[in-house]
Amino acid sequence: MTIHLLRPEVADAIAAGEVVERPASVVKELVENGLDAGARRVSIDIRGAGRNLIRVADDGSGVPAGELRLAFTRHATSKVESLTDLEAIASLGFRGEALASVAAVADVLCTSSGARLRVRAGRVLEEGAAASAPGTVVEVRELFANVPARLRFLKSDATETAACLRVASHYAQLYPEVRFEVRIDGRAALQAPGGGDRRRALAAVHGQAVAAEMLALDWAADSVRVEGLTSQPRLSRGSRDGILLAVNRRPVASRALGYALEECYLGALERGRHPLAVVAVSLDPAAVDVNVHPTKREVRFREEGAVFGAVQRAVRAALAGSGPYRLSLRVDAGAAPAPGAALEPRPDAPALPLAEPATALPSGGALRPLGQVQDGYLVAEGPEGVVLVDQHAAHERVLYNRFRERLRGAPGPSQPLLIPQTLQVDPSQLAAAAEHRPHLEALGFELEEFGPRSLRVLASPVETPPGRALAALEEMLAALAEGRDGGALEKAAVSLACHSAVRFGDPLEPAEQRRLLQELEAATEAVTCPHGRPTRLLLDWQELKRHFRRNY
Ligand code: ADP
Ligand code: MG
Repeated sequence: MTIHLLRPEVADAIAAGEVVERPASVVKELVENGLDAGARRVSIDIRGAGRNLIRVADDGSGVPAGELRLAFTRHATSKVESLTDLEAIASLGFRGEALASVAAVADVLCTSSGARLRVRAGRVLEEGAAASAPGTVVEVRELFANVPARLRFLKSDATETAACLRVASHYAQLYPEVRFEVRIDGRAALQAPGGGDRRRALAAVHGQAVAAEMLALDWAADSVRVEGLTSQPRLSRGSRDGILLAVNRRPVASRALGYALEECYLGALERGRHPLAVVAVSLDPAAVDVNVHPTKREVRFREEGAVFGAVQRAVRAALAGSGPYRLSLRVDAGAAPAPGAALEPRPDAPALPLAEPATALPSGGALRPLGQVQDGYLVAEGPEGVVLVDQHAAHERVLYNRFRERLRGAPGPSQPLLIPQTLQVDPSQLAAAAEHRPHLEALGFELEEFGPRSLRVLASPVETPPGRALAALEEMLAALAEGRDGGALEKAAVSLACHSAVRFGDPLEPAEQRRLLQELEAATEAVTCPHGRPTRLLLDWQELKRHFRRNY
């Protein structure tokens, strides 16, 4: 399509609003233009946090000859024509406003298809021929110089620069076939190689160690496809900054999709921890409305439920391949390294073993119990190495999974208490007990109301030591009283598992050790306890060999 002015009724149907809020918006619009033009290479230079210079060069198809001036006109676009086109947008751009908006608040020089055009504060200053080279170069200088109010709203240089880099890193991860280079004040800040490998693109952004920890997402349902990478539980972040959600290769802000992703990590990550992920959803452009927000960050799905479900299935399938936490050893400080030793201990290694990123290996394979140490850890031999198990965390995971099954409709056995016990509760807990009676029964509790402020416990789950039944129930009722959604039931199941599990300090017989290890191996999501702490650590044979310098 050539560039043309949108008819008024089409222009009016486009979500109105400001496109250029900060330097990063300029980077975003220019990168999107390059990608829409089929670029295989995009290089970005940022100077002075984007106020001095933002230069984006691409090797795409170029602005059609003779249309450069038109490209800088508001509502001029080559990407949509009619109202119907707006209903199924396949390109990143469609508003025909970005170049005009940028040129209204900066000094812009654009070179493409043997022509050059300089526009400053909306006025054309120069127009002429240029050496013909493939692609397009746009140089933006003096951003917001003519709108000082906007300048005052900018954050610190570091923040604005980081936002520019973040935009580039998002597209680098969503377009792994495109080579991205970002230089900030002359220094290389990002180099994504292109070539199409998503893991390599992610490695360019987050580093090799992180990339090696990611599990591949690949799920296709009838009309929705979910691809990308998501972190295994042993790798997490304290913020959501590492989560990139995209729809038809457009980064989006979507609470629903974010929730779909994070819900899969419930019980696998500790509170306040978040996964790292690139979740790339593709679906028929007609099934999603991107014309909701001027910066196109928000989208609306025709069938949000289907997309939500597809993301969850993709993430759950990926997480089934999670590997155990790994130990790396520190060599004893007194031990002198052998001369010419191939591998030196890391000087910054902490005194305690730490979980270290490594590639995921399938864990299944029988664990042979070797014994118990500190009455709290089980030691076992597995096919990959020596395995250390936190007996409480492991048992908690096993029991939590079992209780969760019971809540889903497979009631479990209970044991009558020899002497029924009475639990004092507050009115909200009493109400929760009545409301959730079927759930509590499925778990194995038999209760009756006993006066206005107490419950009588007649039976408890067989897994729960009778002496701990009341404390468990108290905590469960508090959780149930607090929240009314599905999350409250999960929380109650976690409390019950926690109170029922063997404790750190409980000596276990060899037969009990064996059984716990077997149950742990058979359990799903067994890498962590339901609070998100590791259940076991693996010291692999390679690591032992390395530290004993058995290099032959
Ligand atoms: P939109 O991308 O919404 O169409 P823009 O203002 O960003 O609006 O760009 C206007 C038009 O200029 C585009 O439709 C496209 O035809 C052309 N254009 C802009 N940038 C490029 C580029 N880097 N390569 C090729 N064509 C471009
Ligand atoms: Mg555009």
